Amino acid sequence: MAVATAAILTAWAATGSISTSAASNYDRQFEDYPTYSGDDLELKVDNNGTHFRLWSPKAQEVTLNLYDTGLNGKAYKTLPMTFHAENGTWTASVPEKLYGKFYTFSVKQGCKWLGETPGVWAKAVGANGKRAAIIDFAGTDPKGWAQDKGPKVDNFSDVIVYEMHHRDMSMSPTSGIANKGKFLALTEEGSRSPEGEKTGIDHLKELGVTHIHILPSYDYNSVDETNLQQNTYNWGYDPQNYNAPEGSYSTNPSDPATRVREMKEMIKALHDAGIGVIMDVVYNHTAENDGSNFELTAPGYYHRHWDNGAYSDASGCGNETASDRKQMRDYILNSVKYWAKEYHVDGFRFDLMAIHDTETMNEVAAELKKINPSIFVYGEGWTAGDSPLPVERRALKENVSKMNDIAVFSDDLRDAVKGHYSNAEDRGFATGKPGNEETVKIGIVAATAHPQVDYSKGNNSKFPYAKSPEMIVNYVSCHDDLMLTDKLRKSMPEASEDERKAAARLAQTIVFTSQGTPFMFCGEEIFRDKKGEHNSYKSPDSINAIDWSLKAKNHDQFEYYKGLIALRKAHPAFRMTTAEQIAKHLVFDKIDSKKTPNLISYTLKDNANGDSWKDIKVIFNGSEEERPIKLPKGEWNAVIKDGKIDLDAGLGTFKGSVTVAPRTAMILKR
Ligand code: CA
Repeated sequence: MAVATAAILTAWAATGSISTSAASNYDRQFEDYPTYSGDDLELKVDNNGTHFRLWSPKAQEVTLNLYDTGLNGKAYKTLPMTFHAENGTWTASVPEKLYGKFYTFSVKQGCKWLGETPGVWAKAVGANGKRAAIIDFAGTDPKGWAQDKGPKVDNFSDVIVYEMHHRDMSMSPTSGIANKGKFLALTEEGSRSPEGEKTGIDHLKELGVTHIHILPSYDYNSVDETNLQQNTYNWGYDPQNYNAPEGSYSTNPSDPATRVREMKEMIKALHDAGIGVIMDVVYNHTAENDGSNFELTAPGYYHRHWDNGAYSDASGCGNETASDRKQMRDYILNSVKYWAKEYHVDGFRFDLMAIHDTETMNEVAAELKKINPSIFVYGEGWTAGDSPLPVERRALKENVSKMNDIAVFSDDLRDAVKGHYSNAEDRGFATGKPGNEETVKIGIVAATAHPQVDYSKGNNSKFPYAKSPEMIVNYVSCHDDLMLTDKLRKSMPEASEDERKAAARLAQTIVFTSQGTPFMFCGEEIFRDKKGEHNSYKSPDSINAIDWSLKAKNHDQFEYYKGLIALRKAHPAFRMTTAEQIAKHLVFDKIDSKKTPNLISYTLKDNANGDSWKDIKVIFNGSEEERPIKLPKGEWNAVIKDGKIDLDAGLGTFKGSVTVAPRTAMILKR
């Protein structure tokens, strides 16, 4: 969520409001807190009983409350906890294994009792996440879980990401899916649209994406899990319990083990289909300020503040967390490690990643790599407001080269191809607006240094910020802002739907042939829309759910996207792994963009990255006129032409020159 750009950052810099100190005066008080990094925080069950350990260094008293139920009813027992000053934790134990019971903590600080909290490490929770649950995780594993593995990834540029929300994919009656809006939706094989087209997991297999990126699926705040008949929709960028799955995606939110088991079943089904699962994680802020589990356990510590003690708000959601503080950094590290180990998650997408510091992100990537080298970590390299964290320490897009094995979204390509994200009518390269050519080229070379790219002409970033193409995720549309179909309708009001579909194909051809990792939003492949809604985070299913009847209606569009994915998978030239390879093998034609705007042509030459094709010619014509392009000597076979893809038979043979139709891409090989 929350799209900001380098432009906002520049504006803060101009007003002199960018902070440069390491921490605010207020926040310095937290630096000498004792910390605890054991793996038994909050709950551990062993043969000696059930053990509780809460980190709360400045509490005056802490009690443990035990319950029979996940919601309502009084505690059947309340136990005082014992303080350990050396590490700031409070402990209590009971001699029995309390499977099936629930618990909360009550913390007294500043002479007042704070509200009850399930703590920050609840791995299972009752309905609405107010009480932590004690369950036996061994009973939550689906059959064959011990052998379960996600796809092996050699290079992150091989990954093809499909971003989806559970409800978008399955809520429409046209999905033919029984478990609508649930984790289990993607375990259903054989689901079909009314016209007989594949939906759900069969659709993902048919499309050919390598990974799905699921919008927040940890327990979030906004949907009432006790009243699911209401059918409330939310993206889920309002974290409540970071280490338990969201209840509304399970078939029974009141049974804490069900959500755990069903999420694992979804992941297992996708892994069995060869598809990886990437989780969207939102450690950058909490849904509530004083009422968050962080504040109710260790007031002040986990969040950042300004000198006057007010919450700083780089998330634009009321607060921001403090990854630069030891216990918070460990929290993020241990949390992602937990999801990777317990749920076999294959990647993490960090929301507003620049709220975190680069040191934390480097540790995240390094620790995850030890568990599984195929885990892909990327994020939004920006914030949604200023932060007390100095700019040079932020995990910004512009700081990506200070990090290892972390990628960032390229807003350069996104805005240059389709027009600015915040201005609905604005057009881009693919929709006929001149002046974006150089910024599109920045995207094509994945923001790496290239002798033919003039970064001073870039719209967003002015220097080659990526050391490697594996640091860049290219996209033209995601859950945020107008999705591509709606953007094209608003920015091309006079055009026909066919012309808009052509523009979408051109835009996505740029994404899928660019260096870096391509990323797409669910349903674009069948030209779905969100009825013009630009911020659908809590819009009803009538806006957000994909109408699967569009797959038959726009079947040509689907076939084209499928072809783009097949092209990319079959041809490593589009997936180079170093900046040096790109500088050597990718050569742009010299085109005067003043005379012939909206035209880019380049060659991937000499079997780039071991490609079976010796040379590949890639031409993008975003103008409304035909454009001739000279071809180097020899015979060239077209594989993409006039909005069609044919990787086998080809689309004609050309010598000397070709004419590229308006608003289309042409790709030829020899
Ligand atoms: Ca929830």
